[in-house]
Amino acid sequence: MSNENNNQNEIRNVVIIGSGPAGYTAALYTARANLSPLLIAGSFEQTTSRIKGGQLMFTSDIENFPGTGHGVTGPELMMKMEEQALRFGTEMVQEFVTEVNLCDAPGEVYALKLENGNVIKTRALIIATGASARRLGIAAEDKFFGTSVSTCATCDGNQFARQKAVVAVVGGGDSAMEEANYLARLEGIPKVYIIHRREEFRASKIMLKRAQDNPKIEFLLHKAVVDITGKPHPLAGTNKFFTDKEVMSAAILQDTRTGEKSELPLDGLFIAIGHTPNTDLFKNQLKMDETGYLEHDGRTRALPSPACTSAKMQCLEKVPGVFVAGDVADHVYRQAITAAGMGCQAAIEAERYLAEKMAEEEHLDPDAVHLSAESIAQSHWSTERDNGEKPIIERISEATQEK
Ligand code: NAP
Repeated sequence: MSNENNNQNEIRNVVIIGSGPAGYTAALYTARANLSPLLIAGSFEQTTSRIKGGQLMFTSDIENFPGTGHGVTGPELMMKMEEQALRFGTEMVQEFVTEVNLCDAPGEVYALKLENGNVIKTRALIIATGASARRLGIAAEDKFFGTSVSTCATCDGNQFARQKAVVAVVGGGDSAMEEANYLARLEGIPKVYIIHRREEFRASKIMLKRAQDNPKIEFLLHKAVVDITGKPHPLAGTNKFFTDKEVMSAAILQDTRTGEKSELPLDGLFIAIGHTPNTDLFKNQLKMDETGYLEHDGRTRALPSPACTSAKMQCLEKVPGVFVAGDVADHVYRQAITAAGMGCQAAIEAERYLAEKMAEEEHLDPDAVHLSAESIAQSHWSTERDNGEKPIIERISEATQEK
């Protein structure tokens, strides 16, 4: 299972789509397992969900990723993850997948079409395409994103607290209540508004009540944010980089019943109007929940969509060789660390799948070559891997030759 020829007929062992914590972790593990992974990473587009590095590229301080000491910025963490994955032999392309065919030949070779027209073929696929925080869709949102506008209170809240910022959260669901309660708990934040476009809430009663009972939180109902005004960045006079930069001074609100506009002085705006998983590519192929998140069997193995018309796929319980990891399959935790953990699980499952396939082709006894997920996971514990401990794929190759 080598990747000797770099052409359209080459068949990869494993391809990973996505370059967030799940994708990079899957790449690191599969690279250390000598599977020569190819990571399809996205691009440099700064303000879209297509950005290489994913959602953390829009996060300033990360203080809850273990091992990062006093914290790192999102882009810094992603750069380190990328470096680490590349150091062990991951190949990376900055491209987008526009088409995937999983239904025609499940368990054989999967074909992925890239935006540049190239087709990539692979035996195993790890889907780590993430989710995108929904945005309001107003022009000013992009201008202030990363300085005064955020989609993640747990990521950026402390930065606003240090500035003693008055902030608002947009939305009426559990996310908005959770974000508002979190922000209100931060000592530096004197006031939190919740701006919602109507008076009924999607939030659960308990989450709503918690926000309503919080003296720091004030609700502004029947209001939509239609614009954001700015003022010079506080560092504008001291540093050339900030000369033309602005921070938020107010949100322009519009009453959703009367159309009347008003100005709300604010230092920060958190948008919590839901996330959309990046799963369009897999519609009618992989099983998703009602909101579009990919489902799996508890061990990251993807499930076939009931809408898949392929007879081959219809009789399968799982889609062989297809694994899911990170926010694309998790609407509950959505943390960098949980995504990274799932990336590791998906990589070990992919390694096991490939080893089993290889053993089957070579008529090896799976027990004799230790193909349980546990034994494969154990081989990753070794710190001596560079010193002689061999990845499972190599051990199977050797067993084949010894036969
Ligand atoms: P959600 O329940 O879909 O709520 C989204 C909110 O944003 C709605 O109030 C919606 O208003 C509003 N909204 C949507 N588009 C908007 C726009 N363009 N402009 C202004 N407002 C807009 O999303 P969520 O709060 O992210 O929750 C998603 C799922 O995760 C839910 O199942 C939730 O229970 C779960 N969750 C659970 C927890 C928890 O239990 N701790 C925490 C977070 C999320 P309308 O109501 O008017 O449509």
